[in-house]
Amino acid sequence: MDYEKMMELLRNEFQVGAYPGKDPEEDEVPTRSPFKVLISTVLSQRTKDVNTHKASEALFSEYSTPKELAEAPLDHVKELIEPSGFYNVKSERVKRIARRVHEEYDDEVPEDMDELLDFKGVGRKTANCVQVYGFGEPAVPVDTHVHRISNRLGIADTKEPEETEKVLQEEIPKKYWIEINKLMVEFGKNICQPRNPKCGKCPLTEMCKYYEEVYKDEDR
Ligand code: SF4
Repeated sequence: MDYEKMMELLRNEFQVGAYPGKDPEEDEVPTRSPFKVLISTVLSQRTKDVNTHKASEALFSEYSTPKELAEAPLDHVKELIEPSGFYNVKSERVKRIARRVHEEYDDEVPEDMDELLDFKGVGRKTANCVQVYGFGEPAVPVDTHVHRISNRLGIADTKEPEETEKVLQEEIPKKYWIEINKLMVEFGKNICQPRNPKCGKCPLTEMCKYYEEVYKDEDR
């Protein structure tokens, strides 16, 4: 796989990219603190971007620091994050995370992967998002879009996102890691969708295993 070409083609199509908690109407990916990225990514679990954005904005307008969120009344947090869904679980989760960041880490989210993964409710995708979008460090957050696209393209042949993360780290040069998530997520939402990928509009057909297999007998 020519990764330089792949990244160039994706960049041409999707300069803005996605971001947990990002306003879908926004033209640029804003810089956010690791704490806000961590909380927004937890809120983004099992919901759409637009809902994550609403919930994050409402929450941070009232409680923007670990200390404030740790001390916030649970019911008020539930109310504020309601648009993100699963607000009973998520409100307790974000408060627990905020309390630990405040009490154990002096209000600074740890950068170390193992320490991030030690927070309840923080899996590899969330921890990697904090690395990339909070600290600007190279990491490969693998969500359903990145997992599916990597398998369709033939970069990976995996069942679980965790396996895909390992393959991508081995296969793709580190200089591209920081962009992979945001580019593939946008690509997955707009073109390489879960059902009925829009292969006719895709710039990556020449390097795609799925395309090769599905369309090999057709006259292109
Ligand atoms: Fe996805 Fe089709 Fe593009 Fe392959 S050719 S990456 S399956 S949209």
